[in-house]
Amino acid sequence: MSFLENEIQKRLGGYKHLFNQVDESYPSKLKERKSAAIIGGGIAGLTSAIYLAERGFDVFIFEKNNYLGGKLGSWQVKFNDGYETNVEHGFHAFFRQYYNLKNLLKKIDADKYLIPIDDYLILTKKHGNFSFKDIDKTPVKNILSMRKKGIYSFSDAMFKMKGLELLSLLKFDDTKTFKDYDNISFEQYAEETKLPPEMKLMFTTFSRAFFAEPQYISMAELIKSFHFYFLSNDHGLIYDVLNDDFEFTFLDPCRKFIEERGGQIFLESPVTAIEQINGKFNVQGKIVDYVIVASDIPGTKRAVQYSPFIRSSYPEFMKQIQEMKESQRYAVLRIWTDKKLKGDYPFFIFTDALEILDSITIYHQMEKSSEQWVNENGGGIYELHSYALPDDFEEEKVREQLLKEFGEYFPEIKEAEIIYEYLQVKNDFTAFHTGLNKTRPGFKTEIENFYLAGDWVKLPVPAMLMEAAATSAMFAVNDIFEKEGLRQEMIWTVPVKGLLA
Ligand SMILES: Cc1cc2nc3c(=O)[nH]c(=O)nc-3n(C[C@H](O)[C@H](O)[C@H](O)COP(=O)(O)OP(=O)(O)OC[C@H]3O[C@@H](n4cnc5c(N)ncnc54)[C@H](O)[C@@H]3O)c2cc1C
Repeated sequence: MSFLENEIQKRLGGYKHLFNQVDESYPSKLKERKSAAIIGGGIAGLTSAIYLAERGFDVFIFEKNNYLGGKLGSWQVKFNDGYETNVEHGFHAFFRQYYNLKNLLKKIDADKYLIPIDDYLILTKKHGNFSFKDIDKTPVKNILSMRKKGIYSFSDAMFKMKGLELLSLLKFDDTKTFKDYDNISFEQYAEETKLPPEMKLMFTTFSRAFFAEPQYISMAELIKSFHFYFLSNDHGLIYDVLNDDFEFTFLDPCRKFIEERGGQIFLESPVTAIEQINGKFNVQGKIVDYVIVASDIPGTKRAVQYSPFIRSSYPEFMKQIQEMKESQRYAVLRIWTDKKLKGDYPFFIFTDALEILDSITIYHQMEKSSEQWVNENGGGIYELHSYALPDDFEEEKVREQLLKEFGEYFPEIKEAEIIYEYLQVKNDFTAFHTGLNKTRPGFKTEIENFYLAGDWVKLPVPAMLMEAAATSAMFAVNDIFEKEGLRQEMIWTVPVKGLLA
């Protein structure tokens, strides 16, 4: 390790921090029975259930859909010719600094399904292609090494950009960053700092990966994400993926873990209202000591709005929840084709959206069951994502446009016949738009024994997306463990502040 690398790591206090001190002298399991209802069976709900069931709680998960997993869900589809398979909401990257989620995967014995991606590639029509496989992994050195990739030039840095303003990226400090930048969109920031187009493109792919176009996303959220993904650890941008459908690699192990410990999972059970009775809660007829609301924003808004005790006794909390927003619509199109792409590509590719296409996943290179289909039938399986459809983009045109842009990047695919296809256009993703942070609720609410969990909940650590979902659940269950006199779980984080904060 060079002197500089050593100094950077030292200044950040290392790249992996233990957030809480765990007192091993406290018992790990409950002595008398306690119960918890968990609303929503996505990562946040499942993480809550796994940790609570392990400690002896009676756990009830209520999930609206007929499948588990939320945005990491998987369900069966049957095509006209009788072919049955599983589909999901789409490709998911497990970054190596997802410390809490990875501990969870280890606990349920699912970490064995993780495989590394071979490269981090961005294809663009105007600026050429960028590969980040061999980019320097040390924070700051990684930004400097982008110069070699043509993301910015020495003269850009010296004369065109407002370089000093860009130092805000290295100064992440939750309170200060959100105070200074939560009301500014990335689009405004890019204009003010005169970001060169290649750098703007990189940030835009980041912004869109948080389901927002540059004019909507909060610059504070983007600084936080840059800190979390890039400037606080030495994992580089390379990440892992699950090597088969989430049903086999994640959901089944979760279900087994929970049910083997007595937990109960109720599918097709949307919770529309919660009642409070003598300090306990009634959720779908189960009387429980604790509630963790781990539903997405639309579901949480409804459950809170229709719970009479919240409406009458906690109007401030209700208002806070009603102010949260869903993101723009996103689209996921999976296609089974009779032809493959020519050339070698990593299985996940970012594209500079010509209009709406943000990424292409080559499923048969990643998932075992997709590989098997291709071995038997030839051709390929691809998934096309648009993370943020422009507000005025007509839903009927989504399929056609995704395929058109796929063909622009890979002309050979225009010749392919589509054998099966499955399209989803949804708007249940969390908005990380400007101005939302000041009212964003935390995991602990003003209602005793009533918690929130999910990727949209404010946390004391800079985690995002799937890691935020898992980590928020750990904060909620740790609070419950503390109340019950139990030992807490260890919560891990990247450094909570940036190098220059
Ligand atoms: C296309 C796509 C790609 C993504 N790619 C990545 C990626 O590469 N890396 C990454 O880290 N993240 C990625 N994400 C984000 C990631 O999926 C989410 O951050 C994470 O799964 C959120 O988990 P959650 O438990 O907070 O919420 P959800 O998964 O939304 O779970 C909430 C659950 O609550 C249920 N529910 C709602 N209302 C009710 C109700 N009233 N009663 C009962 N149940 C209810 C819902 O049905 C759902 O199952 C991606 C998301 C999408 C959509």
